[in-house]
Amino acid sequence: MDILIAGGGIGGLTAALALQARGHAVTVLEAVREPKPLGVGINLLPHAVAVLDELGLLPALRAMAVETSALVFANRHGQAIYRDARGIAGGYSHPQFSIHRGELQMRLWREAGAKVTVLSGQRVANVRDEGSQAIAEIDTADGPRELAADLVVGADGIHSALRRRLAPDEGGPCWRGVMMWRGTSWAPPFLDGRTMVQAGHSRAKFVVYPIAAPRADGLQLINWIADRRVREPEPGLTAPDRADWSRAGRLDDLLPTFGRWRFDWLDVPGLITRAEQMLEWPMVDRDPLPRWRLGRSTLLGDAAHPMFPIGSNGATQAILDAKALADALATHADLDTALAAYEDARRPLCARIVDMNRREGLDAILDRVEALAPGGFEQLADVIDPAEVAAEIAAYKLAAGHRIRSTAA
Ligand SMILES: Cc1cc2nc3c(=O)[nH]c(=O)nc-3n(C[C@H](O)[C@H](O)[C@H](O)COP(=O)(O)OP(=O)(O)OC[C@H]3O[C@@H](n4cnc5c(N)ncnc54)[C@H](O)[C@@H]3O)c2cc1C
Repeated sequence: MDILIAGGGIGGLTAALALQARGHAVTVLEAVREPKPLGVGINLLPHAVAVLDELGLLPALRAMAVETSALVFANRHGQAIYRDARGIAGGYSHPQFSIHRGELQMRLWREAGAKVTVLSGQRVANVRDEGSQAIAEIDTADGPRELAADLVVGADGIHSALRRRLAPDEGGPCWRGVMMWRGTSWAPPFLDGRTMVQAGHSRAKFVVYPIAAPRADGLQLINWIADRRVREPEPGLTAPDRADWSRAGRLDDLLPTFGRWRFDWLDVPGLITRAEQMLEWPMVDRDPLPRWRLGRSTLLGDAAHPMFPIGSNGATQAILDAKALADALATHADLDTALAAYEDARRPLCARIVDMNRREGLDAILDRVEALAPGGFEQLADVIDPAEVAAEIAAYKLAAGHRIRSTAA
């Protein structure tokens, strides 16, 4: 098939590679004129790494990422509540990687550029079906143009133009009052130099993990995300500004809350103040859609299911979509049947994750510990049953589609 993909993000580029590997002729149309390595850190869960491994990218990932050893939940005093082993040590077939989002995108961009047609400066404004073809209407610096294909995939992110065809009255993303500040800082490694920690509670939370090996001076690039509730959730609340991945954040918005979070193993204000970049983003998502396909087009990644960035699911689910779409098109000759099979494989699961993340995902554990022991604890068992925490984490991972070999989940 001739397939057009709107959007050269992590989801669109992985789809391009997965579809090309199944023999399709793919063209990626990216709106940005000059792609740059934008963003800060993300995590790829093992089931997404397995997909990139099938595409031959595991050595490249190993070279550019940190293999995450564990996810540690901690209170706002930095005391550990639970350590969840990740990657191979956690019983998975593949590592979990902490990686710079922009560098991963650029790596995929080069890989896709060598195998399929990748065009920048091409904003897909709309798609219409004409007979047995889909026509993409594209805005470029030289004026509008049209391209025909057998299928158009909307991988054009949270403000997707293709999604608007399915939900014309949807409006802006949903916001429930939490702002996020995301930054990277060069700092000494903490813990084992490969751990991801989320500390605090749902009103003020600090997530931190390294995304590169230490350099010669011993410093390591540390990614951090500070979430703070700035409004109480209420129906119809909309984010203060259009969610823009590149808006700069301000220290003054963070230090009053996080300025005294000095842990035994990490100086949070020290890390924040030495940030080489800091970005601000409202924690937004969208309601799950009842369908992703319309005629000869479908959606993928954030265009299909933007979700709160909890549980390392953003890029992971986009990558899993890419594989599921390629598999469905390889299994079913009829396009509509294939697109329906793709949706059946992915839409209910992604809707479930959107919902779990709205209900705070695993952060609910942090809230319970904060409510019971706001000043910290001597023994965790005095506050919460560690077995209960373990069971909750296992249940979330199962519901979110983790594939742990030892439990066949
Ligand atoms: C610039 C940027 C920075 C980000 N930084 C972070 C981060 O630091 N941390 C984090 O957790 N997540 C970040 N994300 C989001 C994260 O990459 C996604 O949640 C996840 O990877 C799913 O990717 P996606 O490919 O579905 O969407 P996206 O990564 O959003 O990619 C969508 C792509 O489509 C392009 N596009 C948009 N509209 C059109 C159109 N009409 N026609 C053609 N192309 C279009 C965009 O330019 C973009 O390249 C960022 C996204 C972007 C675009």
